[in-house]
Amino acid sequence: MNLTIEQQATKEAIDCIYQNTKTGIIGHFLVLMLLAILFIDSKIPINTILFGVFTHYIILLIRMYIAFKYNKIKDKIDNFNDLYAWLVYYKIVMFLSGLAFGLMLFFVHSLPTEHHFLILAVIVGLAAGSILTIGEVFSIYISYVFTMLGFTLLWMIMQNDDVYNTGAILLALSMYYFGTSGKRYSNNFKQIIIEKNRAKEHLLAKKIAQDKIIEQESTLDYQKNYDLLTALPNRILFNDRLKQGIQKAQRNGTILALYIIDLDNFKVINDSLGHDVGDKALIAVSSRIKNVIRSNDTLSRLGGDEFSVILEDFNYIQGTSRLAQNILKILSKPFVINKHTFYISCSIGIGLYPKDATDSFALIKDADSAMYKAKEEGKNNFQFYSNEMTKLVLERVVMEAAIHEAIKIEEFVVFYQPQIDARSNKLIGMEALVRWESPKFGLVLPFKFIPLAEELGLIVEIDNLVMNIAMKQFSQWYKDGYNPGVLSLNLAIKNLEQEDYIKKLNDNIMKFSLDSQHIELELTESDIMKKPEKSIDKLEKISALDIKIAIDDFGTGYSSLSYLKKFPINKLKIDKSFIDDIPNDEDSKAIVRAIIAMANSLKLDVIAEGVEEEIQRDFLLENGCHKIQGYYYAKPLPAKEMQKFMENRNINAKTV
Ligand code: C2E
Ligand code: CA
Ligand code: CA
Repeated sequence: MNLTIEQQATKEAIDCIYQNTKTGIIGHFLVLMLLAILFIDSKIPINTILFGVFTHYIILLIRMYIAFKYNKIKDKIDNFNDLYAWLVYYKIVMFLSGLAFGLMLFFVHSLPTEHHFLILAVIVGLAAGSILTIGEVFSIYISYVFTMLGFTLLWMIMQNDDVYNTGAILLALSMYYFGTSGKRYSNNFKQIIIEKNRAKEHLLAKKIAQDKIIEQESTLDYQKNYDLLTALPNRILFNDRLKQGIQKAQRNGTILALYIIDLDNFKVINDSLGHDVGDKALIAVSSRIKNVIRSNDTLSRLGGDEFSVILEDFNYIQGTSRLAQNILKILSKPFVINKHTFYISCSIGIGLYPKDATDSFALIKDADSAMYKAKEEGKNNFQFYSNEMTKLVLERVVMEAAIHEAIKIEEFVVFYQPQIDARSNKLIGMEALVRWESPKFGLVLPFKFIPLAEELGLIVEIDNLVMNIAMKQFSQWYKDGYNPGVLSLNLAIKNLEQEDYIKKLNDNIMKFSLDSQHIELELTESDIMKKPEKSIDKLEKISALDIKIAIDDFGTGYSSLSYLKKFPINKLKIDKSFIDDIPNDEDSKAIVRAIIAMANSLKLDVIAEGVEEEIQRDFLLENGCHKIQGYYYAKPLPAKEMQKFMENRNINAKTV
């Protein structure tokens, strides 16, 4: 409903009247009760009383009815005329109400004088009360008040009595007073409502204006920070994000990689197929790249045909090449736009924080120059800023492809390194160490491919292969009458996450008719500490099979004594780094002594690895560690050489 401010004021007045009905009704009711009691005490015929009371109740009911009705439909009234009609209804009811009160005195003139005054007091009180409480809607009540008082005045004049005549003069004066003060209230009320509505309108207008400004500001903000064609962040926002990213990487000690991606020969597409196709191609490129990055990485359009990706929260430097590979791959598929089919390639330069640069300006420069290097290298490739990175990564890319193949065709061999009891010089066991015999790279040592295999999730298959090869070999040696002792297998923690690992282990022991006491598993301390609670369960089961468990690289992995006690382990393998420092470093010597003491008190076996010098062996022997593995006795040997080693094993001196 569209109302003028005046009309709104009237509407609020009407609402107000109807709300006041509740108190009005209670007032009516109480007054009627009072009068009824008063009449019963008098000599008025009962019919007169009943008629009076009845009339009042009828009016009261009508008043209640229209109030109820109005309340129900007021929200549905959609024009001012209908609303005004309700005002008229109310005025009529109030007029009747006033009439009923006013005529009352004419019916009861036979009452004693003091009762007259009581009734007069009630009537004047009602009039005053009406004006004071609902003075704001005086114009509606005026008919009520003045009809009631008018008839009363008339009655008083008709009494022809000095007292009543004086009363009449007083009543006329009060009517004048009621009239003026009621009008004042009413005007005030109107004014208040009008002002209230003005303020509301003003607020509304202000809000609309503010919203408009915000909207304009945000479009401006958007245009300032985003590229309108691709809706990607533009160079300005990119700079912001890069700075923030570097700060975050600094705080968290993570790597941030910046990729500058420049499309190759994009000008040709623009020139030959038109700018419309060019624009669409840029949009297509951006959405393809978006598909290969994570949601928290930032892809921006730096301008023209140059894009960039900020890769955050990365721990493994070599992994940063994967995204570059993915981008090259995703763009290599043909683009079909406006019925034209064409190809787009790109050159990518990668800068790394903190390796190449530590501020955003320098990092952009590095990534840029790497991108130009990629262009020089013939486009459609990626380059790191530092050459060694590029070499490392390319090697990795090649190796990654090769390692899958190597597993399929089993290019892995196992070398064995003896473990000797230094007191008797007897062989007590050997550690199986994997080697990759690659036709392409030659014999590859584990440090080159084990981390890669772990990252690619291939370590489980490799460990499984090693277990098979080594167990088969051991079984053969035992059959041939050799005594190779205990077989130590390196176990990446990932194996324990496999449902069937323990079953596989057990099956193999049966298959090769080995004694489970001749099998030992080496888990690195840092691996175990990754998920100690989870490992414990599996290790218990392994231990229950009578297979021994050793903690590899002990002393480097921050394990706590409380865990050591909980784990079902049998042996600590002192890390090579401490042995290397013997005899020169006092700290390392102290650590080695402490580890040996700890193993003794926890009733664990202890072995030292990486022993190269006699002096190291002697130190260990003196301090109670007599199990030794290291070049001092032998390097890891191929099975055949290991067999020879066992044959002429009455060793007293080193074989190397
Ligand atoms: P590791 O388990 O600590 O193995 C000991 C490493 O120290 C072996 O290196 C061994 O050749 C070397 N070593 C032993 N004695 C000496 C010594 O006196 N001097 C020197 N300089 N080095 C010595 P390798 O064979 O290159 O293996 C490296 C790591 O690769 C192993 O460390 C182990 O963590 C992992 N690895 C090897 N084979 C496997 C395997 O089959 N499965 C798994 N999961 N990891 C393996
Ligand atoms: Ca080991
Ligand atoms: Ca080790």
